[in-house]
Amino acid sequence: MGPGPINAHPRVLRAMSAPLVGQFDPAMTEYMNEVMAAYREVFRTANEATVLVDGTSRAGIEAALVSLIEPGDRVLVPVFGRFGLLLTEIAGRCGAEVHTIETAWGTVFDEQEIIDAIHRVRPALVALVHGDTSTTMLQPLERVGAVCRDEGVLLYADVTASLGGNAFEQDAWNVDVATAGLQKCLSGPSGSAPISLSPAAVAVLDRRRSVEAGIAAAGATVSQARIHSNYFDLAMILDYWGEQRLNHHTEAASMLYAARECAALLLEEGIDAAVERHRRHGAAMLAGLKGLGLTVFGDEAHRMNNVVAVNIPDGVEGDAVRAAMLTDFGIEIGTSFGPLHGKVWRVGVMGYNARRDAVLTTLTALDSTLRRAGFAAPADAGVAAALAVYAEEAR
Ligand SMILES: *Cc1c(COP(=O)(O)O)cnc(C)c1O
Repeated sequence: MGPGPINAHPRVLRAMSAPLVGQFDPAMTEYMNEVMAAYREVFRTANEATVLVDGTSRAGIEAALVSLIEPGDRVLVPVFGRFGLLLTEIAGRCGAEVHTIETAWGTVFDEQEIIDAIHRVRPALVALVHGDTSTTMLQPLERVGAVCRDEGVLLYADVTASLGGNAFEQDAWNVDVATAGLQKCLSGPSGSAPISLSPAAVAVLDRRRSVEAGIAAAGATVSQARIHSNYFDLAMILDYWGEQRLNHHTEAASMLYAARECAALLLEEGIDAAVERHRRHGAAMLAGLKGLGLTVFGDEAHRMNNVVAVNIPDGVEGDAVRAAMLTDFGIEIGTSFGPLHGKVWRVGVMGYNARRDAVLTTLTALDSTLRRAGFAAPADAGVAAALAVYAEEAR
C-alpha cells in the first residue's frame, strides 16, 4: 500500500508465466499489434506510434527525451516534485538548454503560469509530470496542451503514476508524447514502459532516423542529427514495432505479456470505471487517515486519486512505524524523498490494491501500530470514517 510498486493482479502474474516466443514468431508479432491497439485505447489516442519501451517507466522517459531533444534545444520543465527534477536531470544530460519554473511541493501550477513561461522561454519542448507520487499532486494540463498545439511546441507528459487511476486523454488534451509504467494504477510489475507519440513527435524522429550499421542497406548514410542512444532510439523502436519489423533489441516477452494483460484488465473494467474505483477507495483512505487523527499533506483539491500523503505526527518515528507495519502486518506504506523525507508517509490505493478490504485492513493495522507508537485516536475511528465514505457513496 505504498506509492508503487503495488501487488500485481493475479491474472498479470499468470500471463507472465506463458511460454516464451521470439519477436519474429507470428504469434509474437500478433501480440505486439494487439498491445499497440490496446494502449491506444488506454492513452485515449489515435496515434499509430503507440508501443512499449522495454525497461521501467524511467526507460520510457529517457527514450522520449533523448529521442526528441537535440543538443541545444530549449526545454521548459515545470517542477512540482521529485519527478519534475528527474525530467530536468535527463533533459540536461540530453544537452538541452533547460529552463525550469517551480512551485512548492504539495501544490500544482496554475496553468496560466506554465503558459506564461512558454511565451517567455519559447521552448521546443515542454516536459512535465502529470501525477507526481512524490508529492501526490495531479497537475492539470489541458490548457497547456492547447497552447502547445497552437504554438507548435511539443508537449511531453510523464503519466506513469496517474494513468488508469485518474482521467487522462492524450488526444483531447493535445499531449504529443506520454509515457507510463505498469506498477502503479495498471496492476502490473515494473519493467515495461508504454509510450505513445503524436504525428508531430514522429516527424521529429523522422529527421533523426538512422538505421543501425549491421542491418542498413549498402551506402546508407547516418543522419547528422542521429539520436544519442541506440537502445532508446525511438525511431528504431518504431521501425521494430512497425510493418518493417527491423531488428532492434530482443523483445522482453514476459513483460510484453504483462503489459498486454494490464491493458486487457483495464479495458474490461472500463477506464472511467477504473478511475472511479480509484477515486472512491482513495476518498475512503483519505477519510480513514484523517479519522486516525492524521493531517493530510498538500493541496487536497489537486490530489491524485491513488495516493494520500499524511504528515508524520510529532514525536512519532516515521521509519519505525513503517517497519512495524511491514513486519507485524505485511503491509508496506511509503516514506518520502528529498524535502519531505521523515515528514510524510505516502499511502497508495492503486491498481489491484484499490479495494475496500485493502483500505480497511491498512487502516486497522495503522491504528494498532500508531497506538503502540504513542499516538492514539479513538479506537476504530479510522475504519469507521472509511466505512462512512463507502456508506455515503452506496446511497
Ligand atoms: C513511480 C513513478 C515513476 C517510476 O519510474 P520507474 O523507472 O518505473 O521506477 C516515474 N514517474 C513518476 C511520475 C512516478 O510516480
